[in-house]
Amino acid sequence: MKTIAESILKLIGKSEEQIKAGLVGSSGNISVYPESVHKLGTSVVMMARDDEKRFIAVVADCEKNMPKGFEGDVVRLSDGGGLLTGPLSAANAAALRRYFPWCAPRSLRKERTTVGCGDRLGLATYGHLLAARQFKLSPVLAQQSMRELAMTDRTFRQVVDDAVFNVFRADYREGYGADGDHLKKMEDIDVALAAEMPMITLDLSEVMNASAGDWSAGKIEEAFAALPAADRERVASEDADKTFIVGSCEVKVDALTAKRCAVMYDAALAFALKVYEHLRAKRGDEFDLEVSIDETTSPTLPSHHLYIARELRRLGIEFSSLAPRFVGEFQKAVDYIGDVKEFDRQFVVHAQIAKTFGNYKVSVHSGSDKFSVYPTVGRETGGYLHLKTAGTSWLVAVEVIARCEPQLYRDMHKCALEHFNDMLKLYHITADLSRIPALDSLSDAELPGLMSMADARQLLHITYGPILTGGLRERFFKAMHKFENEYDEALKRHFEKHISLLGVPKK
Ligand SMILES: [Zn+2]
Repeated sequence: MKTIAESILKLIGKSEEQIKAGLVGSSGNISVYPESVHKLGTSVVMMARDDEKRFIAVVADCEKNMPKGFEGDVVRLSDGGGLLTGPLSAANAAALRRYFPWCAPRSLRKERTTVGCGDRLGLATYGHLLAARQFKLSPVLAQQSMRELAMTDRTFRQVVDDAVFNVFRADYREGYGADGDHLKKMEDIDVALAAEMPMITLDLSEVMNASAGDWSAGKIEEAFAALPAADRERVASEDADKTFIVGSCEVKVDALTAKRCAVMYDAALAFALKVYEHLRAKRGDEFDLEVSIDETTSPTLPSHHLYIARELRRLGIEFSSLAPRFVGEFQKAVDYIGDVKEFDRQFVVHAQIAKTFGNYKVSVHSGSDKFSVYPTVGRETGGYLHLKTAGTSWLVAVEVIARCEPQLYRDMHKCALEHFNDMLKLYHITADLSRIPALDSLSDAELPGLMSMADARQLLHITYGPILTGGLRERFFKAMHKFENEYDEALKRHFEKHISLLGVPKK
């Protein structure tokens, strides 16, 4: 690094562009990420890599001018200059956010199209950006649920910091989001807020009364009678036996449906109000609230979506997006399962409700690889949408390993098979392991093909936890470091396909 640093020191009075053009880009096993070279007063901050790791490097014209806040080892350069090299640590991420505020996540509430790019590895952001920056959209680069944090042994702070480093590496200044995904409790929301995550996806599945969806009329009447009088009067006068015109569609709400909605959702919406007020108090206008009711067993009926949207509005809750549970199945890692025509028919109504009652984004969860419904989703929302992807970037990594390091892939596959039944308790998928060819019957060249098979994709999709936190962890991350460019390029292709099919225009 010293050779590179000396070359920068000679250029330190020049412009950033001149420094980028003139520096020695690599020396021995070390190379600087070209887009990461940033001038800061009379020092230069950058990211670099060697055979084992990535790190932050700061070159200052004299040691006392070294910008404060970076941590690492300092060595002396010629003419009194100094070089600091430090890890991708919390302190160094904080220093980057301080000196380069565009590295920090921000609210995307004013942005039309947003795409959640879950990154379970902390390595996918650069590849995501290679795709995202070509299109008119804003990426939510950091996005994790509590379940994913536990499975990958990470914290919200680390998830955000990984995005910060990679945004810095990519010199991406257009703004990105960070989503504390599927949060159900105030204390979890507070952990996400403490990590400066501006987006909160509030999962109402545990506070809503989903089972009342199937209750008899008698049971609904009984539960409804127990609600506060003011709520009962409101439902009777404003919701029951009404027909709502939403765009080109009509949604009829009979008296029983209105009462059923009150029984199912009123308590959950009261909690949403509490969360909203908490977010406002903590972040002013700088947050994106998503309301999610997708983790339920039956699809969200248009009349229910409409009730929730009108109530959110009546309660004065400013929210950016809402995730209904759509008809059919949005299983992880595979295309839409179900009747595409029926999906299209119902999606039109959901999109119209969103436009009519608050103009919020319709959010599509487990949204990766749902290629057959993307055209409808893009068209009917006019691009006013949020798409969440999570595990698909992990599967792209698995495919890279299968291609570049077949023996490691074989070991990961075995680990996945061992833990499949345990993981099945956490994820709803319908993979049939008997359809996956035995590993021994496949040549190395055939291994990447497994990642084009739905059953194998789902097998590897849900077993990331045991693979990433067990005995294979070190070998896996070592390989990912080695094949960094392959991963970036594969992610770029994968996300280009997603975004193009949604009909998001190019810049
Ligand atoms: Zn979801």
